[in-house]
Amino acid sequence: MSYLNDLYQEVILDHNRKPRNFRELEDANRKADGYNPLCGDKVTVYIRLEDDVVKDVSFKGSGCAISTASASLMTETLKGKTRSEIAALFKAFRSLVTGKSDATVKQAELGKLAVFHGVSEFPVRVKCATLAWHTLQAALENQQETVSTE
Ligand code: ZN
Repeated sequence: MSYLNDLYQEVILDHNRKPRNFRELEDANRKADGYNPLCGDKVTVYIRLEDDVVKDVSFKGSGCAISTASASLMTETLKGKTRSEIAALFKAFRSLVTGKSDATVKQAELGKLAVFHGVSEFPVRVKCATLAWHTLQAALENQQETVSTE
């Protein structure tokens, strides 16, 4: 199984080096800021939401490889999804990174996001992996205050 872990690590490193959708979204109608004081990760998530569907999503910020890659893969995954589909994905993702789920089932549901399964072995990294998702949720709920993982 270790070659699989290496493969997953490659995906994370690639998204950290070349984050996808890393820009301000000019026609965004939702936006939120998130901060993980434990690691110093900062992220701003921009969404264009139309009729309960995420038409476009992007992010900006600075942080560790896990937080950047997680935000990058999240934005790639969410385009065209409804709020309820996103809520279900977030739930599955959180179970995956906290090691509270049947990994095989969740990996099938999560697709590419399953690369973060290794995070469950490093509890201190869980907040890095979920920061973008918490921030996304705040943006969808139109929350104005900065989301903190603490
Ligand atoms: Zn971090």
